[in-house]
Amino acid sequence: MKALTFRSVGEVKVTDVPKPGIKGSGEALVKVTLGAVCGSDLHILHGRTPMNEGAVLGHEYVGVIQEVGSEVKRFKPGDRVVSSFFTSCGHCSFCRKGWFNQCVNKATFGHGEYFGGLGGGQSEYVVVPLADHTMEPIPAGVTDEQAIFVGDILSTGFFAAERAEIKAGDVVAVIGAGPVGLMALMSAQLFGPARVFIVDMVDSRLELAQELGGIPINAGEGRPVEAVQSQTGGIGADASIECVGLLSAVDTAIQCVRGGGTISMVGVPSAAQGEFPYLHMWLKSLTFRSGWANVQAYMRPLLDLIASGRLQPDAIISHRMKLEEAEEAYRIFDAREATKIVLTP
Ligand code: NAD
Ligand code: ZN
Repeated sequence: MKALTFRSVGEVKVTDVPKPGIKGSGEALVKVTLGAVCGSDLHILHGRTPMNEGAVLGHEYVGVIQEVGSEVKRFKPGDRVVSSFFTSCGHCSFCRKGWFNQCVNKATFGHGEYFGGLGGGQSEYVVVPLADHTMEPIPAGVTDEQAIFVGDILSTGFFAAERAEIKAGDVVAVIGAGPVGLMALMSAQLFGPARVFIVDMVDSRLELAQELGGIPINAGEGRPVEAVQSQTGGIGADASIECVGLLSAVDTAIQCVRGGGTISMVGVPSAAQGEFPYLHMWLKSLTFRSGWANVQAYMRPLLDLIASGRLQPDAIISHRMKLEEAEEAYRIFDAREATKIVLTP
């Protein structure tokens, strides 16, 4: 089958690889109908996330079940499914507490042998272990383009917004208007804020954010913290949502909230350690939350919100390309010439 594989830092390539098959009784073989390129793929491309040569990329995908192992109960061949970007078992102590992102049996799709050795969704077929707990059926009437982000960026944006503790009438600042930031913007609006500022330096992304109801702040034209403060009577936002991963963006997220406010960070940190403003956090009684999205907790309700028309995540798709064009897709996404790319095998 065709798949996008990692060659070396800065180089990915569409190649022929052996078609995977199910081995375990809890696994399902999924024929991919749509895959997406995610900001986390750029961390792999640039060597910030380790990856072994030849591993298949892609962790955001939807497809159709081809075959299931004997213990898979929720799916049968022909079912349309969306997969989380990582597996969870549903029965370890963490899963029983609802923290599926801490599952002791977790492995991540499209991240090679360092993250569990799974295949990836920028390909024609993927084997999904722990199938019953890792995927959700796509409701009839919901398209692949509407469902695909439920497995990663939409759940991430919603997880971030929920943990920002937004209340009706609040002012929110989203840092980063990439795909995750745009999903955080859409998700934040479900909690009833009066205003949502969104900070980036890419004009096309800020324009889209504005169309989606955000108030754009161009970080290339001045200090975003001052922009938020000047538009909130010098007080700051009630909550901020960090969707970049650079420590400078985390700093912006911390500095632009008012005393007693909440910072919710989902960008993958660009460095393992750095300066943290302990005194500022203490003096202002700030709450700081961060984390790997707890996707499996949100897939079902988000699919319902999409089916009912309350969320339109597919609005951010800027490019529809063929899997064969994946190398070019990575290039233009990395250059921020594309907001979100989906690939058809
Ligand atoms: P992206 O790289 O396309 O978007 C990042 C955006 O941030 C870009 O538009 C960029 O212009 C902007 N930016 C850069 N520096 C900035 C700054 N200082 N202030 C404001 N904006 C700035 O990536 P994405 O797909 O939107 O993902 C965003 C982050 O979320 C990545 O780190 C990704 O790995 C991470 N992520 C985390 C999870 C999770 O489970 N927590 C899931 C998916 C993605
Ligand atoms: Zn991702």
